[in-house]
Amino acid sequence: MNFAQIKELKDKVLNGYKITKEEAIRLAETENLETLYYSANQIRAKFCGSYFEMWSVYHQNTGRCENDCTFCPMSSVTKVDYYATSDPTGVEGQIESMRSLKNKGVKNFEIDTTHTVLNDEELTSMIKMLNTIKNKANVELCASFGSLNYAQLQRLQNETTIKSYHCNIESSENFYPNVCTTISLSDKYETIKNAKSLGFYTCSGGIIGLGEMMEDRIDMALKLRDLEVNAISLNVMLPFPGTPLEKQARLSNQEILTTFAIFRFINPKAQLRFARGRSMIKIIEKEALRAGMNSSIVGELVVNAKDADIENDIHLFEDEGFIIRK
Ligand code: SF4
Repeated sequence: MNFAQIKELKDKVLNGYKITKEEAIRLAETENLETLYYSANQIRAKFCGSYFEMWSVYHQNTGRCENDCTFCPMSSVTKVDYYATSDPTGVEGQIESMRSLKNKGVKNFEIDTTHTVLNDEELTSMIKMLNTIKNKANVELCASFGSLNYAQLQRLQNETTIKSYHCNIESSENFYPNVCTTISLSDKYETIKNAKSLGFYTCSGGIIGLGEMMEDRIDMALKLRDLEVNAISLNVMLPFPGTPLEKQARLSNQEILTTFAIFRFINPKAQLRFARGRSMIKIIEKEALRAGMNSSIVGELVVNAKDADIENDIHLFEDEGFIIRK
């Protein structure tokens, strides 16, 4: 697309138009990258304003997972034992960390379980833990407990004060079989739809740089639009030694920025969140903040959140004109 075509499409999106897959592909092929990124930023400004949200993630059970996600250091196909590195201070340590991060401006704390399917007994214990955290830390929480069914989501709603539910779809339907064979993608869709119908604020997203094509990323963005998720986590592939993707080449800066901008064109109102792999894109983070992104996971993702870099993060986001929403 040339300068005028991008501008015309951007104006249509600003007026409520939903772009097609073909238009997204043509956008992604443009050589007018500055125009693409600038236009994505204008769409973010119109629909999301200047607010920026910082979230943090805390893993609960850290044992080896039975699933085979190729990117994940805890998966059944990883040859190295990463899972021994759980926080020795346990939930009490996490509560202290959350209090500290909340004071610094972190808005929401996602509680993540490594395994996909919680049985009712495990859910009961997670609900108890969520209520303990809520009572002691008084923070907003988001649950990321894999593919919960409708009745389980109802329990989460009725027995806790949780308002947000997170479930990543990871990639396009076409590419997903290369990513994971043990978790059903349709179960994930069902969970997101059920969470949405129950009134949860829904977060989803995926990983870029797994070996998929730009068309796969566009398909993922379109699926997330269909699912009407409120927030989209965009992880950039971070290769871990011992995983099947340990030698996966990093995407180019241009591919990453273009992906972020296309996600903004397709999902004008969603919160677009940096997630795992931020260390891979430090060099282009400012540009990404000018290409449609407006949220970030902060802290150490792999195990439990530490607040070491949060001051620097806040400076970065505020220097780009964002107001941190607390
Ligand atoms: S379900 Fe989660 S913890 Fe398990 S292998 Fe997949 S990404 Fe890793």
